[in-house]
Amino acid sequence: MSESFVIIGDGVAGSSAAETLRENAPDADITVITDEGEALYNRILIKEFAKGKLPEAPISIHDEEWYEEREIDLRLNTLVVDIDTDGHTVTSHEGDTYEYDKLLLATGGTPTQLPVENSDADGIHHFWTFEDARKIKEDVEQADTGVIVGAGLLGIDFAAICGAQDVEAHYLMRGNSWWRYALSEEGAEILHDAMRERGVTPVFESGVDHFEVDDDGHVESAVDPNGEEFDADFAGVAIGLNINTEILRGTGIEHDDGGIVVDEYMQTNLDDVYAAGDCTKFNDVILGEQAQNGAWGSAKAQGETAAKNMLDYGDEEFRWVSSYSITHFDFPFLSFGHPTMGDDSVERKYSDTEWRRLALKDGRIVGGVLIGDLSPQSAYKQLMREGTHVGDEKEALVEKSFSVDDLEAPVADD
Ligand SMILES: Cc1cc2nc3c(=O)[nH]c(=O)nc-3n(C[C@H](O)[C@H](O)[C@H](O)COP(=O)(O)OP(=O)(O)OC[C@H]3O[C@@H](n4cnc5c(N)ncnc54)[C@H](O)[C@@H]3O)c2cc1C
Repeated sequence: MSESFVIIGDGVAGSSAAETLRENAPDADITVITDEGEALYNRILIKEFAKGKLPEAPISIHDEEWYEEREIDLRLNTLVVDIDTDGHTVTSHEGDTYEYDKLLLATGGTPTQLPVENSDADGIHHFWTFEDARKIKEDVEQADTGVIVGAGLLGIDFAAICGAQDVEAHYLMRGNSWWRYALSEEGAEILHDAMRERGVTPVFESGVDHFEVDDDGHVESAVDPNGEEFDADFAGVAIGLNINTEILRGTGIEHDDGGIVVDEYMQTNLDDVYAAGDCTKFNDVILGEQAQNGAWGSAKAQGETAAKNMLDYGDEEFRWVSSYSITHFDFPFLSFGHPTMGDDSVERKYSDTEWRRLALKDGRIVGGVLIGDLSPQSAYKQLMREGTHVGDEKEALVEKSFSVDDLEAPVADD
């Protein structure tokens, strides 16, 4: 009898796992279940749609025929509400049951709600799905003023959307700069200037105490903890991601608030259950500890790795330096690895739009942020992947045209 695989989630992790399974197991039964109403689309590009810079069509990656041609049973609009790991079944909200020999959890995350008064008012948006992007576009096009909360990589997407849609916005940040755990104030100032140029004003030591709404329940303004009020007929909230682990309760699958715990082969503590993508807390063989990635390329690679190991455990380990780029401004921006980790760092500013910071742990690169000139990114990623000790040569690392050959004696560790 052919083996059966059930995949929960048709994001890039789930979809790439289904594709890899089909390529390597022509006779397998493969079912992909998603609560969304459309097949895989490019989540990275939905912000360009919300900005009004891209129509819907190019954002779609697979249509339903793509799954039919590969004999992958795609179930749209189907929420998995229960997993029975003893009985090897999952159950949908409509009570349908799907049997599996091997199960892949590729369930991603859901944006965290802001726990303040009126945070569910009309005109206040979170951003994860294409449906979210459609609503954001509709609302932001009508708006004159806006507020953004959440000083990270998704928050800045909201800032860019407001800028592109000519909304005069305030970006309320809790600290004294944008993404303060990964960038110093000097680096962040490059981003602040770029925001200001687009009509988005960063406000520091701020945040949202509550929203004010009009008689129809539509957001009117945000009041920060200092009592200052900012007009907003549009608000974007991006304060983090809750990993979708509710359905794991009582299943015996190891997880915590940070994610589903898997080894470097994407296997959970149960032999026939795997997980891939943003929902995992995986054994990072480069760092030598558990880590999480929240990036498209990493989720895709984890899906492929999971599929290979579901077919033949031990076939391929996940060894990956993640990267995430921002293309909203006139200068390029890239973060890689885990730029908020580490016990040491080195940084340098080269011009008003060129800056670099590397995060190090135990003398090795664990992540970084590059603004303006991305050319040394492959050298940094290579050093990180190979676990090379560079702690004694920090200044050489931030030379403008750094290459691996500039190091005295690179020593790989593994
Ligand atoms: C606006 C935005 C911009 C981004 N920009 C970038 C970028 O520039 N670069 C970058 O690298 N990354 C970016 N990312 C992050 C990147 O898109 C994610 O890391 C990646 O898509 C994660 O893929 P995934 O398959 O793990 O999870 P997801 O894409 O979240 O897919 C999980 C799927 O599972 C479904 N699901 C969950 N629970 C259930 C259930 N119980 N039953 C059925 N279905 C379920 C969800 O609805 C979802 O469709 C961005 C994300 C967003 C939202």
